[in-house]
Amino acid sequence: MFGWLRGLRTPPSIPDSAWQATLARYPFLADRSVDDVARLRTLAAEFLRDKEFHGAHGFVITDEVALAVAAQAVLPVLHLPGGLRWYDDFVGIVMHPGEAVARRKTVDESGVVHEYDEVLAGEAMDRGPVMLSWQDVLAGSITQDSGYNVVIHEFAHKIDMRSGDADGCPPLPAGFGGTSTARDARIAWFSVLQPAYDDFRERTIVAERFGGEEPWLDAYGATSPAEFFAVACEAYFVNRDKLTSEFAGLTGLFDEFFQRSTAG
Ligand SMILES: [Zn+2]
Repeated sequence: MFGWLRGLRTPPSIPDSAWQATLARYPFLADRSVDDVARLRTLAAEFLRDKEFHGAHGFVITDEVALAVAAQAVLPVLHLPGGLRWYDDFVGIVMHPGEAVARRKTVDESGVVHEYDEVLAGEAMDRGPVMLSWQDVLAGSITQDSGYNVVIHEFAHKIDMRSGDADGCPPLPAGFGGTSTARDARIAWFSVLQPAYDDFRERTIVAERFGGEEPWLDAYGATSPAEFFAVACEAYFVNRDKLTSEFAGLTGLFDEFFQRSTAG
């Protein structure tokens, strides 16, 4: 067992067989340069040192579970300056065996309280833990074509939330998009993300209401720019070619944000 228990000072060494099994199961991890795969392994080990896994409903955290999450979670920060510091606002990762049901409460305009259940494959809380369904994490091994990946989705929210509420715009570096102020950088970001979101939302609504062709990408992305960002990040990291063919502008935008450094 590698210690995902807290208190380790040095990252655990990931046994070769376990690492190879993870790469084989999640082909989008293996489908990278030798240097990238080596860096993924280093970051995954550091992630295991820093994070604390908990199993809900009797779910047992095995090496396979912890490594599957770690290896996928570090992919978005692979070339982001700061690396794992993007995730240093929390420690806990709560694993459910399958989808979890969360009781939600909303108050409508007339003050009436509505309670309902929401079924979740994962959830990221601002400065709090990440919850994941193991069944859905495992599904990431076969949903590459559809661009679906719950781990990347939740960790994309984590990155987004580093600048406050999840709104679809992560904290941008100075000079992003050739801009000179933080405000202009944000405008530049949304000048690409917003039209892609609007177009996707429109096509999703048409498909749902009038039986039009369903657009590629998880329809959940049509619920808000924050969800669209997370859904598009999934696709960017597991099926970049398809994302490029559907939303060329997003690939360029994400390249500029996520591919800034190889040294981290
Ligand atoms: Zn989400």
